Amino acid sequence: MLKIVKFGGSSLADAGQFVKVKNIIEADANRRYVVPSAPGKRFSGDVKVTDMLYDCYEKASAGSDFRDNLIRIRSRYDSIIQELKLSGVSLKDEFTEIEEHLRTAPQKDYIASRGEYLNGLVLAAYLGISFIDAADVIFFREDGSFDEKKTQKAMKERLSEVDRAVIPGFYGSMPDHSIRTFSRGGSDITGSIVAAAAHADVYENWTDVSGFMVADPRIVDNPAGIETITYRELRELSYMGASVLHDEAIFPVRNIGIPINIRNTNAPDDEGTWIVESTAQKSGYVITGIAGKKGFCAVDITKSLMNSEIGFGRKVLQAFEENGISFEHMPSGIDTMTIVVHEDEFIEKEQRVVSAIHRLAAPDSIEIESDIALIAVVGRGMRSARGTAGRIFSALAHAQVNVRMIDQGSSELNIIIGVENRDFENAIRAIYDIFVTTQL
Ligand code: ASP
Repeated sequence: MLKIVKFGGSSLADAGQFVKVKNIIEADANRRYVVPSAPGKRFSGDVKVTDMLYDCYEKASAGSDFRDNLIRIRSRYDSIIQELKLSGVSLKDEFTEIEEHLRTAPQKDYIASRGEYLNGLVLAAYLGISFIDAADVIFFREDGSFDEKKTQKAMKERLSEVDRAVIPGFYGSMPDHSIRTFSRGGSDITGSIVAAAAHADVYENWTDVSGFMVADPRIVDNPAGIETITYRELRELSYMGASVLHDEAIFPVRNIGIPINIRNTNAPDDEGTWIVESTAQKSGYVITGIAGKKGFCAVDITKSLMNSEIGFGRKVLQAFEENGISFEHMPSGIDTMTIVVHEDEFIEKEQRVVSAIHRLAAPDSIEIESDIALIAVVGRGMRSARGTAGRIFSALAHAQVNVRMIDQGSSELNIIIGVENRDFENAIRAIYDIFVTTQL
């Protein structure tokens, strides 16, 4: 049995958190490869080391004095080292090198990556295991895309040489050996890449919450947790704003059947959430989760006999494409079709889009509605449960929420509901109550 364990920034924010991490790793001999993030926030209002590094880079590249910033970053690591009494560990040389780099030709990704690099060095020393520089085992191509083949080969070889190791998250190297990072939160991706290369049985992703919840705890008081979720359900929910794991982190492990287990460093006995390809396990409730976002616009296009006009939809979509706007949803009726777009992307180009639709598709009328929120009700159990949609709509009617739009894909994995922005929270609570609270 082999487990890859990734710890997020808040799990490694200070010495106290390092102690918890060590206990977790040592509690299970299968936890052999460890992927750390950079130290995150210790309290609300604190600044993540990665953000401090970006700041430092900005100063250096503008020619301003960055030394104070660098001293503050160093003190984050030094206090961890001191409190853990790691007497043999010093980051003096590393900081000299970073300072030298900032003085000569500062490179953004290199600087950002030092947060994980340094944390990896400290963690490896604390755990007494090997350190593998991610630059030696994670590779990008010339065009910046991730080079899976080269990475797999190098990673496998290197891992076969060591039984236990720390591999810092978030970065790898380019063909010219310069450093490149993934997008923010990218240590999740590194963990997944290591899990895939090592053919791990589980990818444990340790964070500061006990997995996913059925609804956003800022909207619903104390929501139920999600025990098991499929990759597809997760895609739907995270697209709609539920964020615990980086979107791209599922791809390396998804096709080879390695489950991801989201766990809480501060409550290690909690089982957390299992993310799996497919499962026979029922999710406890008919729905798996509810998520949503505000700030959409609906563009309603009407044309008599539109349904029999071949190419009408394509012409309408072309108007959006010409203006560089991607659409989110497209519910349609007999003589109407609605294109739902992000308000902030759309607003400045709306008149250009409207005239393009007129020019290309010659509709009878176009109407724009703003301040729309979309809510996704997601669940693999909905397919086999009769009356799900009915329950949602009667709950919303009860809560006096006016439904503006409905869109259900034929996969029956989710139902998307459009409501007015101001009804957003109420609608989510009403749906949660009908499926979860009344089932308890
Ligand atoms: N430290 C990086 C960030 O803050 C990457 C990560 O934490 O996953 O985005």
